[in-house]
Formats: sequence, C-alpha cells, structure tokens
Amino acid sequence: MRLYLLNPGNSLVSLANVAQSRWNRYRIWKPLGLLTVAALTPRDWEVRILDENLGAVDYASLPRPDLVGISAFTSQAPRAYELADSFRQQGVPVIMGGIHATMCQAEASRHVDSIVTGEAETVWETVLEDFRHGRLRSLYQGEYADMAATPAARHDLLGGRYAFGSVQTTRGCPLRCGFCSVSSFNGYRYRQRPIDRVVEEFQSIAEKWVLVVDDNLIGTGPAHRERAKDLFRAMIRAGLRKRWIGQVTIDFADDEELLSLASRSGCQGVFIGFESPSPEGLAEIGASKAKLSSGRDIRDSVERIRRHNLLVVGSFILGLDADVPGIGRRVAEAASQYGVDMLNALFLTPLPGTRLWEQMHESKRIAAADFPQDWRYYTLGYPTARYKHFTTAELVAEMIQCERLFYSSGRILRRLCNNVLRWRRPLLSLVANLSYRKNARITHRNYRALGLDTETAAPSGCRGTPQTIPNA
Ligand code: SF4
Repeated sequence: MRLYLLNPGNSLVSLANVAQSRWNRYRIWKPLGLLTVAALTPRDWEVRILDENLGAVDYASLPRPDLVGISAFTSQAPRAYELADSFRQQGVPVIMGGIHATMCQAEASRHVDSIVTGEAETVWETVLEDFRHGRLRSLYQGEYADMAATPAARHDLLGGRYAFGSVQTTRGCPLRCGFCSVSSFNGYRYRQRPIDRVVEEFQSIAEKWVLVVDDNLIGTGPAHRERAKDLFRAMIRAGLRKRWIGQVTIDFADDEELLSLASRSGCQGVFIGFESPSPEGLAEIGASKAKLSSGRDIRDSVERIRRHNLLVVGSFILGLDADVPGIGRRVAEAASQYGVDMLNALFLTPLPGTRLWEQMHESKRIAAADFPQDWRYYTLGYPTARYKHFTTAELVAEMIQCERLFYSSGRILRRLCNNVLRWRRPLLSLVANLSYRKNARITHRNYRALGLDTETAAPSGCRGTPQTIPNA
C-alpha cells in the first residue's frame, strides 16, 4: 500500500518562497507532524512525504497512491482542498488532519473522505486498519496523546534540502492567550516527553540545526523549569553537537542556571512573544501573559538572555483594540529598546478555535470571510479582521512603517556592531536580519499587488466597516 503525506503550500507565506528570497533556504524546517504520522504508519506501507514548501510537486509523474493524508494549518487550507479534490477526482481517498480540519470539520468534510481531529497518535492505527478493510469512517477523534508513547518522527524520510530538522519535547500550554489556538488543539495541560526519548530523537536528526517546535519550551512553573534543565543536561551529556532554537516566555531570563544549560546544550536563540508594548494591549492578549511582563524591566531580561550568547527574536502583534495610530513606530521602537536581535511583527488574526475568533465572529469583525479561499490570508502576515482604530490600509501602513524602521540599514548595522563588540553570534544575527528584511519586502510587495496599501478596498474613514480582502 502506498501512502502520500502532503504539506500544502501557500504562496503568500514568504518564508516558503526560496525562489524570491535566497535567505529563506536558511529558514525552512522539516514538517514534523507528517514525519510523526509516518512513524505511526506500519512499515508494510510505502510512505512518501511531499512538501510543497520546497517547491512545486509534479504529482502527475508520481505513481498513483492508495491513500493520501494531508495536514494543514489554516492558511494552507485552500491548497489542501485543491489537492484533496484533485486526488479524489482520480479515485484516491483523502484523509485530512491538523489544526484546521479539527477546528473547521464541516468545511473540511466537503473536500475529503475522512477527518482526523486532534492528535493523531491515538487513532492513526485504527484509521489505516479501517482503510485496509474498506470501512473508512468520515471522522476519527484523536485524544491528547500519552507523550511517553509518542514515537520518534521518521526524520529519515526527507532529504537534505532543509536548513532545520525539527523535534518536539512538550505539548500544551496553560497560559490561554486569546489569539492562540495551541490550548484548544493540544490542551491546557503541559505534557512532557521522556527526556531519554527526546535525546534519542535528536541523535536521529541529520541536520546540524534543529527547531524545537514546542510552543512553550520552559512551561509555566518550577517543575517545568526543572524538567527543561534536566533535558538540557541530558543533551549536554549526550554530546549532541546540535545547534537549536526554540520558543520560550520572557521569564526564561529569570533563571541563570536554565540560561546557562540551554546555551551549553546548543541553544542559539529563542523566540519570545512580547505581543504589545502597552499594558492595555497585554491585558487584551490575556492575563497570564500580561503578568509575565508586568513590572518587569524587559530590556534587562533580554540582556540577561543575550549574555549567554543567545539571540532573541521578539514577536509583536499589530491591530489590537488597544492599538492607536502610531503603533507601527511604537512597536519598532519598543523592540529596539528591549534590545531584541530580530522583530517578528504580526497582524492580530482571528484563527478558528481561538477565543479571539469567537469574539470577532460574534461581533461581525471577520473581514476576510470568503471561505475557504480567504483562509490563505490567515498567515498572521495579512490583515483579516476589522480593526478598531484602523482601516485595512492604515494598519498595513503601520506594519510597513514598523518593519522598515526596525530593519533599516542603520539599525541593522547598529545591532551588528553591538553583536560584534560583544561577539554574540554576529554572522548569524546578520543573516537572520537580512532574511527578515527580505521577507518583509516581499510581503510589502504583496500588499501592493493586492491593493491592501490603498484605501480602494478600504475607503478612508471607514474604520470598523467591512473590507473584504480581494482574492488574488
Ligand atoms: S504562551 Fe504561547 S503557546 Fe501559550 S497560549 Fe500564549 S501564545 Fe499560545
């Protein structure tokens, strides 16, 4: 039996666009979800992973599969449905899983034969057995998996065109940020994989660089921190010689031992969601996240992390109800003042399955709503809602200003000099800055191509009124 597992592309996700930005080849990681599904698949299946992030796939030249599995985030949904429709027209059954199919089951079921919701570990074996016996059901509901039973992903199945391997050590997050779908997909309980299994899996990854995909690697309490330290100690003992990056919260800075162990285990940098420069904005995101920043000298926290030779990528959201004109400049200045090495500025995006979606849907503030086509804009890089204090064009202008300011040549040079003087990964920081700048420019071109930077689609003064993003 032949199984194809597909990772659908989205041309609006500039990260995947290696043709337009050579820097992106340093940023693409292996699709861990599909590698894990492959590991759950019995070895008598011939499994092939087809990742459109690496470029167009010539499906016609490939042998016909018996079954197709697709995993998709929301922004990948339109392409996922296109692929599913095409395979089904050829008589090949299609199964879809991942976060979008879980949150939008009715929509997905119009394009596929079967949906797997939640985490696949608990149901995938049954799905394949049912398929073999011709009794595939339309819905399989995955439960939260026992992390001790989660198999190592099949890293061997994908070749060497990726900059990063990928691995997962924990799932779930108790912090309940309103815009985030992690808790509704993986739960509020923080679940951890056994450390020896994680280390073994690291050893099976060929790439020198690894993305730890955990949404919150250090968790939320003392026991979680101790577990993270134990993990880093085990990685040091194993002599992995990997370089890895991961996502943490700002309180990572509060524990010198944790920072030192992370650095010695190969950590090169961390992503931190600062979300908003204002207390009102943070309160809007959620009380737990706000508490982490409240009363904190953020510049000092960032500096403590950077002293361990770790780069910091700071994420901010534009378009909160608390944001007012000038927010683009304010975010760029805040990120510079905090001392982050790279800025990841995102639009407030109501993703299905989040509290934000519920609120915006109820108050009719979903602007890009021609579904499923408009899901392609839900990358966090495009405005999709009706924002309280901005028209679409105004918020796009804020984003452009924010990124132009932070990634101006002068500011990049200043950060580079700072990192050279302190010898904090100057080359890595320079490559990352240039990559972010190039992607920002590609996205700005997309805004112009879509007419999002003008008031044509969003007449001046029509704050809070419907503005549908045109389909490209
Ligand atoms: S801390 Fe991160 S993973 Fe956790 S709920 Fe907030 S955004 Fe999501």
